[in-house]
Amino acid sequence: MNRAITTTLHHYIGGKKVPGESGRAGDIFNPATGQVTKQVPLASKEEVGQAIGVAQAAFPAWSEVPAGRRAQIMFRFRDLIRSNMDGLAEAVSSEHGKTLEDARGSITRGLEVVEYACGISQLLKGEYSGSVAAGVDSWSMRQPLGVCAGITPFNFPAMVPMWMFPLAIACGNTFVLKPSEKDPSCPLLLAELMTEAGLPEGVLNVVNGDKEAVDTLLTDPRVQAVSFVGSTAIGQYIYHTGTANNKRVQALCGAKNHMLVMPDADMDQVVDAVMGAAYGSAGERCMAVSVVVTVGEGTTERIIEKLVPRVEGLKVGPYTDPDAEMGPVVTPDARNRIMGYIDKGVEEGADLVLDGRGIQVSGHEDGCFVGATIFDRVRTNMSIYTDEIFGPVLSIVRADSYEDAVKMINEHEYGNGTAIFTRDGDAARDFSHRVQIGMVGVNVPIPVPLAFHSFGGWKRSLFGDHAIHGPEGVHFYTKLKTITSRWPSGIRSGAVFNFRAGGEH
Ligand code: NAD
Repeated sequence: MNRAITTTLHHYIGGKKVPGESGRAGDIFNPATGQVTKQVPLASKEEVGQAIGVAQAAFPAWSEVPAGRRAQIMFRFRDLIRSNMDGLAEAVSSEHGKTLEDARGSITRGLEVVEYACGISQLLKGEYSGSVAAGVDSWSMRQPLGVCAGITPFNFPAMVPMWMFPLAIACGNTFVLKPSEKDPSCPLLLAELMTEAGLPEGVLNVVNGDKEAVDTLLTDPRVQAVSFVGSTAIGQYIYHTGTANNKRVQALCGAKNHMLVMPDADMDQVVDAVMGAAYGSAGERCMAVSVVVTVGEGTTERIIEKLVPRVEGLKVGPYTDPDAEMGPVVTPDARNRIMGYIDKGVEEGADLVLDGRGIQVSGHEDGCFVGATIFDRVRTNMSIYTDEIFGPVLSIVRADSYEDAVKMINEHEYGNGTAIFTRDGDAARDFSHRVQIGMVGVNVPIPVPLAFHSFGGWKRSLFGDHAIHGPEGVHFYTKLKTITSRWPSGIRSGAVFNFRAGGEH
């Protein structure tokens, strides 16, 4: 294997860079070259315990800082992200492989959650009912939980951590982030920027690691809540282990997002939408469209006729090439796994319309590139349909009718996102109401809710009761307290032994 290691990364604990001491480390690739360029320390149980201890110690003071002052730090953090955008995007692209423009876009989506967190004073406002009984008032407030943990995937090393820690911290919690070991540089930089923005030491900590670090976060009694984003197999384990250890857990997981194309859809819009949604970020998005379901005679042919030349013209290259529209996938293992799925699709009898296996990017022969791939006549029992491939591989499934298409989507184990393309408002409305999916687009291929709404799928795409960011995020990172209060004046006295109707106490 090619090795050109230039850097060994660190943890970030108590507002400082801390070198790893476990003696274990993981490789970080530059996906465009296939070379290992950095090493990341993999934390031991003791190192993670140290980070949790620091976060625990920082909690009492931080939770007492007025929300408005916590928001001031978020405002400064927002400005620092903007002024450091180029360096953050470079950190994402050099380890993930996505284009710089795509990296900037994903950081901006994370930034929107920071902006939402800037309004934390308003978001934490409780409810108040005066005179619920004679001389009695009642109100509610939301209080922070304590130490919260975040475990994040490789595909959005900036955005997904920013779905979590800004809101958790703005709510008054302290945080331990365990980013993906494949691309941890950007999350480490974000933690440094939080310190620069004025965040007290220990409120945000980053530990790098693998299963050992994750298991420590899941079992340590000082951790109150765990947010996870990643694959379904791991997410299910996180949810069960975390809740068995009495933690609040939200686990956002894998996906197979279907785009339903009705015969009346505008095919130019459909093709534009498929290009971005299937091949943007080389298909490594949990909201990527990986299945197009066509309804009606000739719909598939009309799509393929326009789609194939567009896909053939897609410029694939490293992030350093400003003309590149699609970069490599994250590691050689990911490339081999995706190529294996294309082999399987052929073996299972799907029609391979465009084959991405033979791609060569000049000057980057060892890069982790997979060309954009299209399969037609995919059937629902094929592994390229059932499994999340997480690469630039699109399956077209021909449905006999609209009803069959809806049934197919509802029967898939994943329920993250879906979209319908049509000019028929009745079909769009029916689809939006009946489809068993958490995020639905009408003529919008990637219906990612903005920061002031909440993001989350259904079925095996989310374990737990809360979606992430937006109002659900505030609820996840806080607990409700309701106070019922009376100031006896001597006007009314005497013990009351029974509950009474009408709220009388
Ligand atoms: P992954 O599940 O392999 O890793 C996610 C995190 O879990 C990482 O921090 C990793 O270190 C940790 N982890 C891995 N194996 C573990 C184990 N055995 N025990 C404990 N922890 C472990 O996911 P990934 O490959 O990094 O990311 C891609 C996946 O994330 C896809 O399935 C994608 O759909 C999903 N994803 C979902 C959403 C969403 O919002 N639903 C968003 C982004 C990504």
